[in-house]
Amino acid sequence: MEKKYNKKAKYLILTHNHGDHTFGAEAFKDLPIISSQKAFDDHYELEKEGKLSKEYRQGFINAIKEKSAKGEFDLSDSWHNDFAPNYLAAKLYPPTLTISDEMKLGSPDQQILFKVIGGHTDCSAFLYYMPEDILIAGDNFNCEHAQNSGCMLAGMNDKGIAILKMFEDLNPKKVIPGHGPVVEKDSIKTSREYFSNMFEKLKELKDNGVSLEEASKHPSLPEFFEEEKHRQWDLIMSSWYTQL
Ligand SMILES: [Zn+2]
Repeated sequence: MEKKYNKKAKYLILTHNHGDHTFGAEAFKDLPIISSQKAFDDHYELEKEGKLSKEYRQGFINAIKEKSAKGEFDLSDSWHNDFAPNYLAAKLYPPTLTISDEMKLGSPDQQILFKVIGGHTDCSAFLYYMPEDILIAGDNFNCEHAQNSGCMLAGMNDKGIAILKMFEDLNPKKVIPGHGPVVEKDSIKTSREYFSNMFEKLKELKDNGVSLEEASKHPSLPEFFEEEKHRQWDLIMSSWYTQL
């Protein structure tokens, strides 16, 4: 990026404290690392609990491999070749500057809003580049879900739907999701409408005492809006149904 734009990076800004968004911080260790206060607190909480140590990480990876070997789910090539080795090798750099609500960065004609909103995690935040109306959504909005971790889908709830509505109301020209390609604003609408519809239908079924097994195959449920469904769909559905 620095070479391409012939400009030095000034900050690393983290949308939330999940390893797939923070474990690459080493490349930016010479810069201020900005996050929400909650993301900072969460980082030190994990460290205190020993959950960032190399031994813990190795145990985590082994446990996932064991579950997969038992046939609970498949692991993709990118999980084996990219996520796992990088997760184990990453040197961690905690945030050095935190905010509890929002801040604006840059000169008035180049302003970027950084705002904490929760949702995907309590520490989640988004960025908005005001001169060109570009939304950097973090994991509150994702595309190509099948290629990504199931926790983004499984964690969707009413608050997440309200956040998608708020993103639409910002009226961005382009949206950079937490995972997947850059898209137009319409993609947020498609996603929000699917989740609202799905949750409404699931609530109805649950109120009528329908079992999870039956509900998850019910013909009244909308079809997933992306071509490929997540391979952990049963887990996702059970997470939605139990939290309602
Ligand atoms: Zn993520």
